[in-house]
Amino acid sequence: MLGPVILAASRSDTMRRVVSAAPVTRPVVNRFIAGETVDGTTPVIQDMADSGLEVTMDVLGEDITDPAEALHARDAYLKLIEALAPLGLGARAEMSVKLSSFGQALRGGHDLALRNITTVVEAATEIGTTVTLDMEDHTTVDSTLAIHSTLRERFPETGAVVQSYLFRTEDDCRALAAAGSRVRLVKGAYKEPARVAHQDKGEVDKAYVRCLKTLMAGEGHPMIGTHDPRLIAIAQELAIRAGRTPDAYEFQMLYGIREAEQRRLAAEGHRVRVYIAYGTDWYGYFMRRLAERPANLAFFLRSLATR
Ligand code: FAD
Repeated sequence: MLGPVILAASRSDTMRRVVSAAPVTRPVVNRFIAGETVDGTTPVIQDMADSGLEVTMDVLGEDITDPAEALHARDAYLKLIEALAPLGLGARAEMSVKLSSFGQALRGGHDLALRNITTVVEAATEIGTTVTLDMEDHTTVDSTLAIHSTLRERFPETGAVVQSYLFRTEDDCRALAAAGSRVRLVKGAYKEPARVAHQDKGEVDKAYVRCLKTLMAGEGHPMIGTHDPRLIAIAQELAIRAGRTPDAYEFQMLYGIREAEQRRLAAEGHRVRVYIAYGTDWYGYFMRRLAERPANLAFFLRSLATR
């Protein structure tokens, strides 16, 4: 019940000011955000790599309101790529990008976002790595998948994300399960209306399994973005049934969530990629993490009360 309320708050400027200014917010935020700067985050990436984990890097930012901010966001990714180059991790350290931070929602935003993301994908390719386009609310899906398709003409390894809570996603999975495609399947983190998305968690999970079957049976590289132990077990079973070797799919989890499970799967020989978010614009990302798990909110409120 609380989830939708928190998700609504995640898009409120007033709540953004209140939550960001609360002194106790920071320690809770730090659980999910690896750092504020690229230099502060590089040791975390190296530590993950040393533990046999791969990473996908998110420079925090979304829903920008003017084109200068879009260029700023693009440049932050270029700086990240410069910092990744000497680590020599290649595709073990890739990028995740929210196109709303590249101007997608502005007037002429589709083309602006395409220009900005193309520059980033070119730079990523030069250091031997890839980019995955995060998926945001349902109004952005057509534009994001169109940009993904355009990018794939020159950069076939560019990844897409699909959200099992959307009714359309089973069709999207069928279209995306083609040779060479990289597709991250997640449940979905935004507040969506009943006309476009399953509202019942059980239905979201069932849809996730149907999508997983399509992706595993297809010719692409499925990226299983979940912390849900039941879905992880089902994915393992489906991978065996599809005759996939461990390098032909990967698990993905968020920084700060189920870390022991991340390491356990990696130690068992699975590919595990950790989604690492860093930067100062953490509000929207943080609120979605609170919404996913009421226990996180309780922890946050308790720290407020004990001050
Ligand atoms: P849940 O049923 O929510 O959780 C299963 C278990 O995982 C919980 O019982 C709990 O133990 C643990 N857990 C889950 N969330 C939390 C949390 N916040 N704090 C603590 N424990 C938790 N969504 C999008 O809409 N677009 C994207 O582009 C996107 N990219 C993602 C990339 C990755 C790598 C991952 C892992 C998720 C991404 N998501 C994205 C978020 C996703 O849609 C879900 O909201 C999120 O993963 C929670 O769902 P779950 O599958 O883990 O299952």
